Amino acid sequence: MLPLTSIPGIGPTTAQALERLNIHSIEDLLWHFPFRYDDLRLTKKISDAKIGERVTIEATIELIASRRSPRKRVMLTEGLVSDDTGSMKVIWFNQPFLTKNLKPNDRVRLTGRVESGYGQCQLTAPEYDVIGTQTESRHSGRLVPVYPSTSRITQKSLRTWIVHALKHAQEISDPVPEKIRGKNGLRPLRDVLHAIHFPKDEQDRDSAIHRLKFDELFLFHVERLKQHRVPQKAQGFPFDQKSVQEFVHALPFILTNSQRKAAWDIVKDLEKSVAMNRLLSGDVGSGKTVVAAIAAFHVLTSGAGVALMAPTELLARQHFFTLKAFFAEFPFPIALWTHTFHETSKEKGDERPTLLIGTHALLNEHAPLRPCGLVIIDEQHRFGVRQRDRLRSRGTQEGFTPHFLSLTATPIPRSLALTLANDIALSRLPDLPKDRKPTMTRIAPPHHRDAMYGFVEKEVAKGRQAFVLAPLIDPSDTLCVSSATALHAELSLRFRNLRIGLIHGKLKGKEKDAALLGFSERKTDVLVATPVVEVGIDIPNATVMVIEGAERFGLSQLHQIRGRVGRSEHQSYCFLYANSLTDMARKRLSAVAETTDGLKLAELDLALRGPGDLVGLEQSGFLDFRFASFADTELLERTRTAAEQYLTTHIQKG
Ligand code: ADP
Ligand code: MG
Repeated sequence: MLPLTSIPGIGPTTAQALERLNIHSIEDLLWHFPFRYDDLRLTKKISDAKIGERVTIEATIELIASRRSPRKRVMLTEGLVSDDTGSMKVIWFNQPFLTKNLKPNDRVRLTGRVESGYGQCQLTAPEYDVIGTQTESRHSGRLVPVYPSTSRITQKSLRTWIVHALKHAQEISDPVPEKIRGKNGLRPLRDVLHAIHFPKDEQDRDSAIHRLKFDELFLFHVERLKQHRVPQKAQGFPFDQKSVQEFVHALPFILTNSQRKAAWDIVKDLEKSVAMNRLLSGDVGSGKTVVAAIAAFHVLTSGAGVALMAPTELLARQHFFTLKAFFAEFPFPIALWTHTFHETSKEKGDERPTLLIGTHALLNEHAPLRPCGLVIIDEQHRFGVRQRDRLRSRGTQEGFTPHFLSLTATPIPRSLALTLANDIALSRLPDLPKDRKPTMTRIAPPHHRDAMYGFVEKEVAKGRQAFVLAPLIDPSDTLCVSSATALHAELSLRFRNLRIGLIHGKLKGKEKDAALLGFSERKTDVLVATPVVEVGIDIPNATVMVIEGAERFGLSQLHQIRGRVGRSEHQSYCFLYANSLTDMARKRLSAVAETTDGLKLAELDLALRGPGDLVGLEQSGFLDFRFASFADTELLERTRTAAEQYLTTHIQKG
């Protein structure tokens, strides 16, 4: 498939912005699903439009022009549109290019709110489609998809790019063979992709969702049954107890019993010549990294390679530094490989690195991945099945599959653990390292803002550090929420004696390093950040997490973010700061304040979402399922049968 930048309107900068949404290719764009649809189907006549209503009208443009408003920086585009019942004023803000797209006499479909402007009805900032120029409307007059996005990417652009991407939908191979599709009444994948983005009606959308649920469960069964039926041959690594013990003794802390047990189980698996497939689960802060490091150490001392993939660049970098420190006494070459950054701990040297740490970039064919003995994936739920398979197969050589260890903070419900029991070995870290205290969490309303930041100052005076998290990088005109750059400025003024750092996705790799290293070396007291620090970042001396715009995050996400503190023996605190709270938002935030149990929060997160409403907003937590649920026993059964049939024919074919 062509690169993302082959889509009109996506240049290198935009492509970079899309990476923050985990969109790296045209295919990813197709898999970026709406989390809701606005129903903009009902068209009204202009004479029927009432003030306060959100309406869709079909009309002809009579006049259109842009001008600068007296209140300086705002660019106004004003138009007059009419249908056979009357005319109406239309106004847009800061979209001067509109006069290029919309001309007098164009027939348009407009959706927006009717307001009163100087006594007249006026349509304010409506979505528009020009009728007749494209085969299908995208932004109005239909079920309009609304996507998870960032402040820098508009819904309109996303829709337009996805329309382009859909032209490539037939290039994606359908994971479910035609025969099985026929038997189960499933639509072909390209139809489904079209319907999930631009459904004709609810039924069209729901049948697409049904197919996607089927796929998730089907692939889940195929993956596990495959493993089960044909044990994959792997290289066994004899356990060199002495050197592993030496390594463990040299660690800066004593392992907990569950870490010891998990490491032992892993090492025992690595001795075997059947590929390990093990999932290590433990809540945020439970200490999974060091267990992975022991596994890596074991394989590295046997002279084989290890690859470690993490979902964000920042986390990959952190792992690179952490493991470099763990392995300082040992001669293993270590390398970091991300989209923007490649570094090895050994100067030049022709050999490929033995321990390769990176992001999705490791899947790229240029990554210097050599066949390896062990593949580790951190925060595994952030990757799709396909990506995990890809890394595993990239590490395969001469019939030897690498051992596979994945780490997750996503809680595994009991029912799921039972289903998985035959296929995946599970290790758990049920408790946090000792001396940890649960993080105290409070909802902070605006009138507590001063007190809250006063508290931050006191903690810093005690020698601790604080994170301040904002949903956006830069201030936005349209969204009334905090941004990291604005908060950084505000806090720099407020705390003249404190050193305030700033980190976000737009910084270059080196700048991110500097910001994070500065914070971990206590060169800064407060780090203002966007959710780039959400997963995995580990700064034990930080004890306060202020989350501004907390109502904008999902419960599991808040739990992850809160997990950045409470990583040492010091009592930690988390403030959920919100400017305004609906009842629902209050209920959600209270849940986070009341429990530190990740599993409870994940379940509640699902329960509080309306079914069919927030599809695909973020992966709902359990494995790769965005749509399917283990509660759907009927479909679980049906997909298992389908997967078994599939594998029988598949294996017979060889
Ligand atoms: P997570 O499971 O969220 O990935 P990490 O592996 O990042 O957690 O560990 C969290 C913090 O706890 C790190 O600072 C790590 O060094 C520390 N840690 C891990 N194991 C122990 C232990 N047994 N005793 C004390 N601290 C530990
Ligand atoms: Mg981690």
